[in-house]
Amino acid sequence: METLEILGSITRLSPIVVRVLGQNPGKFTLQGTNTYIVGRQRPYVLVDTGEGKEEYVPILESALKVPLSSEDSDIPDVSDIIISHWHRDHVGGLPSVLALLRRLWDERKTGLPFTPPRLHKFPLPANKLPEQSNLPSIINSLPSKSFTPASDSVFYDLQDGQEFTTSSTLLRVLHTPGHTRDSICLYIPEDRALYTADTVLGQGTAVFEDLRLYISSLRKMLDYQKYYSYDVLYPGHGPVVKEGAKLIDTYIQHRLEREAQILEVLQKAPPSPDVNESSGSARWSTWTIVSKIYQGYPESLWTPASHSINLHMKKLEADGIVKKLGGEGVNTKWALNLKL
Ligand SMILES: [Zn+2]
Repeated sequence: METLEILGSITRLSPIVVRVLGQNPGKFTLQGTNTYIVGRQRPYVLVDTGEGKEEYVPILESALKVPLSSEDSDIPDVSDIIISHWHRDHVGGLPSVLALLRRLWDERKTGLPFTPPRLHKFPLPANKLPEQSNLPSIINSLPSKSFTPASDSVFYDLQDGQEFTTSSTLLRVLHTPGHTRDSICLYIPEDRALYTADTVLGQGTAVFEDLRLYISSLRKMLDYQKYYSYDVLYPGHGPVVKEGAKLIDTYIQHRLEREAQILEVLQKAPPSPDVNESSGSARWSTWTIVSKIYQGYPESLWTPASHSINLHMKKLEADGIVKKLGGEGVNTKWALNLKL
């Protein structure tokens, strides 16, 4: 297949991987969601579906319209769709992608019955899907008979360590919770590549739900190299990362440095209590920690920063290093756990 480039939205990364941009660029999505077509020949595996932008459908169509040969004219374009995690910018395109795959098959007029793709995702316990998730409504809007369901669910459950074999390539699933609980990476041995979804991005730093899980997943990704070596990362957003392990290590160091800063602050005398505060005693709160660490930055950045500091505090609490003294939200009071 010759190199494909349509307005920079379709890029062949290797003989088995083509990246298709989800057409949803933005501050948080960078160049937009990266979706990946994996495989040497039909049927391909599609990794993620973008957020559901109409403009994505014709671009994916172009990327899939590789000339049919006599060997694959009876084979559907895609046999499996892997969803990296529940976030809308990865799963929102599922209804329109399934409708496209059905149409592409019908247009071939093979006269053969259509075998719809299987959908795969790492399972989340029912009560762990956050309320703001629109995954249930996306599932409800899937065109009928456009996918092959698992025995009792829409998705086939991915498992950590699962080897995902397709007709032409092998993918290995690595469960890496932290960004979300159901986040996965995929090891692509032929490319010596690790697809990292939103756990590690091509630019900037990633956000996470649970820092303790997140750091242990980053370490798991580095340890993984002992058994399955990779050089490059294919992130969920942003460009290919050339020195993958180095970037993962930088992510870990960045978090550990922030943790060390917090512990340093907690060892200092806290600022005097606000006159409006009822507690009276001087204690560090999430907000005063933020104001100390980010004192050189504009105050407009303190609120978003407090979200990340709060997740650090939860991790330190789970590690038994700090204890919560009361209060809510940014006014939560903290102290070092002196029993250590
Ligand atoms: Zn995400």
